[in-house]
Amino acid sequence: MRKKVIAANWKMYKTPDQAKAFFHDFLPLVQGHDRDDIVVCPTYLSLDVAVHAAKGSNVAVGAQNLNWQNEGAYTGEICASMLLAVGVTHVIIGHSERRQYFGETDDTVNLKLKSALEAGLIPIVCVGEVLQEREANLTDDVLRRQCTRAFHKVSAKKAHPLVVAYEPVWAIGTGKTATPEIAADAHAIIRSEAASSFGEDFAENLRILYGGSVKPENANTLMTTDGIDGALVGGASLDPKSFAAIVKY
Ligand code: PEP
Repeated sequence: MRKKVIAANWKMYKTPDQAKAFFHDFLPLVQGHDRDDIVVCPTYLSLDVAVHAAKGSNVAVGAQNLNWQNEGAYTGEICASMLLAVGVTHVIIGHSERRQYFGETDDTVNLKLKSALEAGLIPIVCVGEVLQEREANLTDDVLRRQCTRAFHKVSAKKAHPLVVAYEPVWAIGTGKTATPEIAADAHAIIRSEAASSFGEDFAENLRILYGGSVKPENANTLMTTDGIDGALVGGASLDPKSFAAIVKY
């Protein structure tokens, strides 16, 4: 059985005070919930507050990005050791908004993945097709390319903590959700790519999350679909009650 991961991606929302208030309200709602791994990914600026607020709880804290260099003259960037130093355990890599607006490529995703794994962070690598690609029947090709390039020269041994999130770009923040069938098909493609890169056993244990307009109302249907091992949640994770309802789908 793969333990599900329910992760919140707060994007560029919430000040440190607002992050603190979220944890104050959220933690009692999920206290003792150990069926799933729960992860909250605030902005860099709220990581410290979040780690302190979540200390001793069943909620882990992740970052939304990292730079793959160890240190250096890279203005505005944050590296793995800095995330570890404040108590972060997870990191989102290759979110479609980073690919779309900040020039992230399959190659930088690969570098970031290697750096996160080397440091001992749990990477959540995002893949997914845009609407034109789906309409042109290119979903399969896109997912295979994104996975192969992300996993390039990563060994199965090193990749062990890897989590992948399938996030069809047309479903992110749009209110449109992939049907369980669409998600399950995409997850099967990703799992078969993971099998090619890392072997069947690895692929069998790989947790593949679905992301794209997950809400309390659709969480149960998606989370109980075979092959969906959790959720990466944007908008609906900003409210403690709504995110807790998703966690408890
Ligand atoms: C996301 O940002 O990863 C996401 C899935 O957003 P939303 O849930 O708002 O569609």
